[in-house]
Parts: sequence; C-alpha cells; structure tokens
Amino acid sequence: MNTRVRYAPSPTGLQHIGGVRTALFNYLYARSNQSGKFILRLEDTDRTRTDESYVQNLYDTFNWLGFKWDEGPDCGGQYAPYIQSERSNLYKKYTQELLDNGHAYYCFCTAQRIDEVRQQREAARSSESGYDRLCRSIDPQEAAKRSASGEACTVRLKIPLGKTTVFHDHLLGNIEWKNDDINPDPVLLKTDGFPTYHLANVVDDHLMEISHIMRAQEWLPSTPLHVIMYHAFGWTPPQFCHLPMVMGQDGKKLSKRHGATSIDEFRKQGYLPEALINYVALLGASYEEGSVSDKHPDLYTLEELSQHFSLEKLNKAPAVFDYKKLEWYNGQYIRMKTDEELAALCLPYVINAGLFGNGENAKPTAQQLQTFVSSMALIKERLIFLSEVPEKIAYLFREPEVPAAEEFIPKKCDLARTIELLQIGKELVRSLAEKPDDEAAENFIKAEAEKREIKLGDLMMPLRVAITGSRVSPPLFGSLRILGAECSVNRIEKAIGSLG
Ligand code: GLU
Repeated sequence: MNTRVRYAPSPTGLQHIGGVRTALFNYLYARSNQSGKFILRLEDTDRTRTDESYVQNLYDTFNWLGFKWDEGPDCGGQYAPYIQSERSNLYKKYTQELLDNGHAYYCFCTAQRIDEVRQQREAARSSESGYDRLCRSIDPQEAAKRSASGEACTVRLKIPLGKTTVFHDHLLGNIEWKNDDINPDPVLLKTDGFPTYHLANVVDDHLMEISHIMRAQEWLPSTPLHVIMYHAFGWTPPQFCHLPMVMGQDGKKLSKRHGATSIDEFRKQGYLPEALINYVALLGASYEEGSVSDKHPDLYTLEELSQHFSLEKLNKAPAVFDYKKLEWYNGQYIRMKTDEELAALCLPYVINAGLFGNGENAKPTAQQLQTFVSSMALIKERLIFLSEVPEKIAYLFREPEVPAAEEFIPKKCDLARTIELLQIGKELVRSLAEKPDDEAAENFIKAEAEKREIKLGDLMMPLRVAITGSRVSPPLFGSLRILGAECSVNRIEKAIGSLG
C-alpha cells in the first residue's frame, strides 16, 4: 500500500502550533517513506467561518516553514480538486448512495423544532441529547418525494443502534465505542446542499486513497462515526493514528492563555522556522539522542527528521509545550547564522524601528549597513528573538540620551571620581583605534587600569554608560570599535559635561 497522508485544515483561523504539529508529522511520515505523498486539502465546508485570509495564512505559514506538498489546491494532482467547496457534486452523489442503501435518511425537522426538543428535554431534566431521530421512521419513498418536490431537508446518517463500533488506533490500540454514545444520527448533507465535515472528510479520504489519518486526539470522538460511514459505503477505513494533545505547563490544552500559539505571532516575535520545526517535531515524538543529527544531539533539520521519523517514535502521553525550550532552540539556530545572514533576517525589524530613518521604505546608508552587519557579532551570542535586535543595537545608530548621574557612579565612588574615571577613559579610547582586535583592546585597557591602580570595573562602568546609554549593553570593546574613536570621545565628553 502506498503511503498517502494529508493535512486537512478548515480555513477558519490562523495556523497554530497544534495544526502545524499535525502537518509536520504527516509531512515527515510521507517523506520517511520512499514513495510517500503529502497532500494538502482545504476543508472549507463551514461557509460562515471560512475566510480567504486564513487560506492565505496557511500558504504563507507553510512556505515560511518550508513544507512542500505533493498534491494540493494550488498544484493540483490526480485527485483534484483539493478544495471541498469545489467537490459538492461528489458529496451529493455519495449521499445518494447512502440513501439508496438505507444507511441515511432525509430529515425535515426545522432548526426551530430541534431547538424545541432541546428545551423540552432541559425542562424535563432529561439526560438525552442531540437529535431525537423523528424522521428516521418516515417511509423512504415518501421522504424522497417530499425532498424532490423541494421541501427543505437535510440528510442524516442512520447510526446502527445497540451496537458497538470497533477500530484500531496505532497509538491508542483497539477502541470500542458504543453506538448509543455517538451523537444521534448526525447530519451529512445540510439544507443548502453543502456537506458536513464528517461526510466530506470520509468521502475525500477514501477517494484520495489516504492510507493513514494522523490528526489530533480531539478528533477521536468523530472516528467511530467515520468508521460507521466507511462500513456503510462498503469501504475499508484508512489506518488511524490520533496524535497526543499539546498541553501548556499547567496541564490544560495549549491556548492563548499560555502565550503565543499562532505561527504568525512566533514569526513576528522573531522565531526562525528551523527552531519552530525542530521543537514542534518533539511534541509527541522522541528520537534517540544522536540518532538524527551528528552535529548536535538535539538539533535536527527538516531533512534529518524526514529520514528518521516513524510511527514508532510517537508517544502516547500528552506533549507539554515549553516556551523556554523553544527559546533555547531559537537561540541555537540564531548562533548558527553568519553575521550577514542574521543581519538579513533582522533587517525588517530594524527598518521598522526606524534605526535607518523614518518610514517603512527607509534604506540604510553604506555606513549604516556596515555598522548593522558588524553589530551582529556583538549580540548574536545572547540573542533569543530577532525582535529584540533594534533595542539592543539602537545606540550604534543614534546617540543615547545621557542617563541620570547615579547610573554612572561605580560602587564606593563619588561624582568627582566618576568624572575623573571618564577623563581617563576618554584618553584611553583614543588609543583603541590602533589595536588590531577587541581582545587586544581589552588587554590594553586592563593593563592601563592595573598601571593606574584602578579596578577594571570602575573604569569600564561609567564608560559603558557614556557610550551605550545603559549599564547593560552588548560588549563594550566591540561597540567602541564600531562607533570609532571620534564618536566615542564625543559621547564621553557629553557625559562629562552633563555630570559636571
Ligand atoms: N478539517 C479538520 C480540521 O480542521 C480535519 C480533521 C481531520 O484531520 O480529519 O482539523
């Protein structure tokens, strides 16, 4: 059997961690099999909630992550179309099949009647819920006539009562589900002729020859219903594999309450796609250490993951989403970038922050560009997100405001001494330009401090505040080098002026 898996989102929201995890596992499974195919299908049967912007968000997200599908709405394929709203005739045809073989029936109940039944049950404190199967007993020929004459109706699945539906799930094992616990006779075809998720999903998975259904565990309650439909059609169901839930640290389903969940948010914050993929690939799967990458035991590329993924690597237990761990991955991938690559990634953030002038079309001058690229080496080691960059390097592009005097004064020093220290610093900074690199510059200052019997920290601290505008900053010697002697001296003089 050929491996054919699919990601079948409903475009009713932004792509989030859970969806991308499902897509990634399907993608990896397809790629781990030589002739495996990864299919993208749009399940846009909910016409009121479907929105074109979410379709665009799906494409943008996947392009950014680097997922490529073999068949889908944009690239077509043997089983096209891959958009459910373009497959209406098929669903009607298969609904007719179920009506003909007695597994489905017309229902003429109005929304109002169904609501009344619900209210009556509530009033009577009945434990029953869902449709009361009133139309199940209408004579099929009579019902067909009423429908043909234009009476508004839906088509419902006739769930076999008093039986148990059994199926196998790759992770969860054999599952037995009492039919009486399934939502009573769910609608397959709506009054407007559109299919419901259940019908379209089953028909498409069968017609598209999907071999494995890998989807989030929250879909498990729909599976018995789907299995009943496969049997009603006389089809063999695909293999099921319901993926473990993704939880927040508090053990509740991951949601906005825990932090960012949409991929857009992570992207804006400045996560790299490599980091997100690497971390998401671990949400519910384990790889033996060192089995995937020989470079680093925890860092895997999409390519490496594709080679090593298998259903055996999936875990049953829920996965816990750890934002700190994701940050760690992001930092690791940031450090693998060259200064030029990192600068290119940070460019939009820096333009946006106005470091090169106002407006989104602001372009850096050659000098600014050089400063920008050189600054990457100063911040790369500690960077977590790209969006942190503008704030960290702003002092290289605009003179920082001179902070209050207390900021300059080292412990056990006073204002007069601080001004003296800055004077010394100013003299030393002039000589730094001749030093071949930052290490030589540092050694020089260290030696000078020692010679003058000044604690290195006392000399450096006011200098740092004068140059960067803050006690906490990227490395000082690199900053002095990038700014150059003249600019550095000016800033120190300004600080002295303000302290005096
Ligand atoms: N359209 C469903 C969703 O939005 C697909 C569920 C499934 O994979 O069957 O997730």
